[in-house]
Amino acid sequence: MQTEIIVIGSGVAATALITKILESRPDTTITVLEAGGKIKMRDFALYQNYLISNKLPFDHQNIYDSCYDLAYQDRDKPGENAFSGDTEIPMNGSRAFLYGGSTVHWGGWAFRLKEEDFKLRSNLKAKGKATGDVIDWPISYADLEPFYQEAEDFIGVSGDSEDQTTARLGKYPFPAFPFTLEDGLFIDAFNKLPQPISYAHLPIARYGDTHSNNSHGPCHTTGLCKYCPFGARFVAANNLDDLVSSAKYPNLKIITNAIVEEILMDTKDHATGVRYFDKKKNIWVNIQGKRIIAAAGAIETPKLLLRSAKNLWENGIGNDRDLVGRFLISHPYFFYKAVLPKNPQMLQPEMGFPTLVSRHFDSLEEQHKGKFIMINPPSSPKLNLARSMGSGKSREEIIKSIQNNATVQLQGIVEVFSEARNRVTNTKKTNRFGLWETKIEFWKSPGFEDRMKEIEGTVKKIFEQMGAVDVGIETAISWRADHAACTTRMSSDPEVGVVDQNLKIHGTSNIYVCSNSSFSSLGAVNPTLTLTALSLRLAGHLLTELKTEANL
Ligand SMILES: Cc1cc2nc3c(=O)[nH]c(=O)nc-3n(C[C@H](O)[C@H](O)[C@H](O)COP(=O)(O)OP(=O)(O)OC[C@H]3O[C@@H](n4cnc5c(N)ncnc54)[C@H](O)[C@@H]3O)c2cc1C
Ligand code: SF4
Repeated sequence: MQTEIIVIGSGVAATALITKILESRPDTTITVLEAGGKIKMRDFALYQNYLISNKLPFDHQNIYDSCYDLAYQDRDKPGENAFSGDTEIPMNGSRAFLYGGSTVHWGGWAFRLKEEDFKLRSNLKAKGKATGDVIDWPISYADLEPFYQEAEDFIGVSGDSEDQTTARLGKYPFPAFPFTLEDGLFIDAFNKLPQPISYAHLPIARYGDTHSNNSHGPCHTTGLCKYCPFGARFVAANNLDDLVSSAKYPNLKIITNAIVEEILMDTKDHATGVRYFDKKKNIWVNIQGKRIIAAAGAIETPKLLLRSAKNLWENGIGNDRDLVGRFLISHPYFFYKAVLPKNPQMLQPEMGFPTLVSRHFDSLEEQHKGKFIMINPPSSPKLNLARSMGSGKSREEIIKSIQNNATVQLQGIVEVFSEARNRVTNTKKTNRFGLWETKIEFWKSPGFEDRMKEIEGTVKKIFEQMGAVDVGIETAISWRADHAACTTRMSSDPEVGVVDQNLKIHGTSNIYVCSNSSFSSLGAVNPTLTLTALSLRLAGHLLTELKTEANL
C-alpha cells in the first residue's frame, strides 16, 4: 500500500504537522520514521527519585549518552563527526536522536521573529551592508502571524499578551510567569541607565493552568525541567503519545529505530518513497509514499538530500546549484557573570527557567550589526539548605552566608548572517547510531569580534548600574549547533533557495522540508516557535492538496 505521507523524523516539526493533518482528516495514512528509540517521559517515579537522590530525571536515564553525538575526535579521545574552519561548532548536546526529537532536552523559550527579520537582505542593503549571501524570506511576518498564534496554542506558551514587542492579534494561551526578585535588579538597572533598555516577560512553552483542552499538567514550577514529570513543559514525545493512544487515527504509524538512508525517486521531479534501515530487525526496508516530508532537523535533512537519488540528481536532491547544506548558521550564545558584593534580599533562584528577556537590541536599528537578546537566567542556588542544616549550621550562620554576596548573570544570543562557505555534508563513516557522521565547515564573519566587544560594553554598563563587581565578569561564547538553521533555505527563486514558499524542494513535485533548515535567515531568537508555525502552515497546504486530490 502507498502511504499518503511519509515523515522523516519525529521532532516538534513532524508532530505539529501530523497533528494538524490528523485533526482535520483523521484517516490520513501517515508513516513517521524515527532514527532514535523511546525514553520514559511523564514518569512520576523519576521525580520521586529526584527528591530522594537529588539526581535530575533527565540525567538519571543516561539520556545524554543514549542519544547525543560524541564530541569531536580529540588527540587523546575517540570522537564523532568532523570539523574544519576557524570556529568550532560543537555537535555534542546540540540535538537528540529520539522519539520526539530535540524538544526532549530543549529550554522551551518560544519567541516570534520580528517583522524586519523577514526582510534581512532588503534591510542590510538599505544600510549598504548586504553580502551576496543573505536573502529575504519569501513570506512576511503578517503571513505567518496566524500560524504563530496556532503554534503558541500547540506548544502551550505562557506569555504576556499585552507585550507588543512583536505585534500580535490574539492572546497567549497562558499568562506569563511573573518576574523573579532577581529580575527586579535588572529591571531597575535597565530603567536607570542614561539610555534605558526595554524588557519583557520571556514567552516559554510550559503549560499554564487555564487550558481546558489538553492532557498535559500545568507547570508546578518545581524547577526541575529538562524533564518534566507532569508533562507541563512541551515535549513532542508527549504529544505523539497522545496521538498514538487516541483511537481516532487508525492509519498513523510511527516506526522508531528506523534510519532513513535515502529518498527514492522514479523521475527527477517525483519521489516514490524512502529506503531505511530497521535497526531492531537488522534489515533494509523500502516504503512507498505519495509525499515525503523531511523533518530530520537542520543537520540531517540536508545530509539526507545530499546522499539521495544520485542517479537523477548528480549532487543530491535539489542540489543542482550547490545550495543544499550551505549557509549554515548557529547562534552564538554568550555568558556574562558578575558579583553583587551584598545580597540583602537573599536572592536565590526561584524558577528553573528564565522569566526576563530584553529584545531591546533585537531591532531594525541594530540588525545590520547582528541583533542580540539578553536573558537573566536562573543562577545556581548558592545554598543547599538540607546540607547546611545537617552540618549543624545555625539559622544565623546560614542567613549570613547567603547575604554575603550573589552571582548575577546575563546570557544572550547574537544574530549572525549566512555565508555560502559555511556548510554541512556527510562524511564517509557512520556513527554508533548508524547515521552518517557529519562534516561541518564554519568560519565566523570578520566583524563578529567587534560586535561582541560592543555587546560586552553594554553588559558591563548594566552590571555597573546594578553595583555588581566588574572584575568578576566572565565571558564565554558557545557556538554549539543548538539552533543550526538555513541549510535548505526558503526562497521563491530556485537560484538562491532550496525550497519554495510552500517548503517544497524546487524541481520536485512531492518532497517537502519541514525544519529550521528552511529558514531564510535566523534572527536573534530561538527558532522553534517559528518552525512550529511553518509546520502548521505546511499542514494547511497539504490538507488543501489532499482535498483537491480527493475531489478529482
Ligand atoms: C540544549 C538545547 C536547548 C534548546 N532550547 C531551545 C529553546 O529554549 N527554544 C527554542 O526555540 N529552541 C531551542 N532549542 C532548539 C530546538 O530543540 C530545535 O529547534 C527543535 O527541537 C528542532 O525540531 P525538529 O523537529 O526540526 O528537529 P529534531 O527535534 O532534532 O527532530 C529530528 C528528528 O529526526 C530524527 N532523524 C534525523 N535523521 C534521521 C534519519 N536519517 N532517519 C530517521 N530519523 C532521523 C532525529 O533522531 C530526531 O528525532 C534547543 C536546542 C538544544 C540543543
Ligand atoms: S518547572 Fe514546570 S515544566 Fe519544569 S519540571 Fe517543574 S513542573 Fe515541569
